[in-house]
Amino acid sequence: MAVERSIVHMDLDSFFISVERLMDSSLIGKPVIVGGTSDRGVVASCSYEARQFGVHSAMPSRMARQLCPHAIFVRGDMDQYSKYSNAVTDIIEQEAPIFEKASIDEHYLEITGMDKYIKHSMLWAHELREKIIHETGLPISFGLSENKTVSKIATGESKPNGEKQVPFGLEKTFLAPLSIRKIPGIGDKTNATLQKMGISKIETIQQMPILAMQKVLGENGGSIWRKANGIDTNPIEPYSEQKSMSKETTFDKDTTDFEMLKNVLVAMIDTLGFDLRKQKKVTGCITLKLKYSDFQTHTFQASIPYTASDDILLKKVTELFMKNYNRRVLIRLIGVKFSNLVSGFNQINLFDDTEEKINLYSALDKIRMRFGEQAIGRAVGLREDKDKKEEKK
Ligand SMILES: [Mg+2]
Repeated sequence: MAVERSIVHMDLDSFFISVERLMDSSLIGKPVIVGGTSDRGVVASCSYEARQFGVHSAMPSRMARQLCPHAIFVRGDMDQYSKYSNAVTDIIEQEAPIFEKASIDEHYLEITGMDKYIKHSMLWAHELREKIIHETGLPISFGLSENKTVSKIATGESKPNGEKQVPFGLEKTFLAPLSIRKIPGIGDKTNATLQKMGISKIETIQQMPILAMQKVLGENGGSIWRKANGIDTNPIEPYSEQKSMSKETTFDKDTTDFEMLKNVLVAMIDTLGFDLRKQKKVTGCITLKLKYSDFQTHTFQASIPYTASDDILLKKVTELFMKNYNRRVLIRLIGVKFSNLVSGFNQINLFDDTEEKINLYSALDKIRMRFGEQAIGRAVGLREDKDKKEEKK
């Protein structure tokens, strides 16, 4: 028999808003919207008070203003959000042996088998939640169950500022009365397809054979059916092993050609930034690697506010390069690495960017997905060096 797992999903409540309220207490209790403040901006996050007026994230700011004219608009501050996000991660790291940072405001904690060493899992998670609230001032909710999907949905049901356990064996019963929208991964399109078939409650999916769902939605249908039935065997991806992505270029002929090196960096950021957005992730750490002709290797690392924006990434890597490339020694290899990857591109890039810029990113990325990565380059990145080998790890 498989071991019964215990998985906690912790999610900060309207995270950006909560951080804004820590910095400015006059925002407490009011409808607050973090997002693009221009008319062409987009809502990145909104308080529960604003949600009551129908405002939701990813909505154009001008529409939010119509729905809730007295809402207070705040321009997002990624530096602060990243700082608080990392403070929460640090507390979790002290307490939980295995955890995954799923996004800037979400963690999964594996506490399977810990019952032997700790008190009851629910009490343990409760105390951790209290500690996070006490030390950071941020409201947070959690769900506890046998798997990631059920725990995530339980967190959603416990919000705001709550906690909920779904006992082993009662997963289907817990899910049955909920709307299909509560299943992670069901977006507008899938929801519309299912609603057209008269499916609005998870219970209905539970009563269908998996084949019927697969027939309508393909492989995704199978995945939705399993989630609806409380089945999820996905493991926790430990934070320490969470993926990074990197790219390196070795030159056949060592070089000090400053402009060329900068162009190579631009091209690398272009490719890596695209990969990052394709995976709907953001990075919190960037590393520049330089190997000189004497085979000495130096790496320079900088923690950065979570981002997937080429502009910010390029600025950071250029800064690292300008600051550290002071040796007049020939360069043999140059590399860039993004680490501390977490989900959340769609949420995070919203408040700096206007709709046009977001649409531009997705339009450029779509073209690349269709025609391959070489289809687009920045003007400055277009120069392809003939004697350059690229290795992608
Ligand atoms: Mg959250």
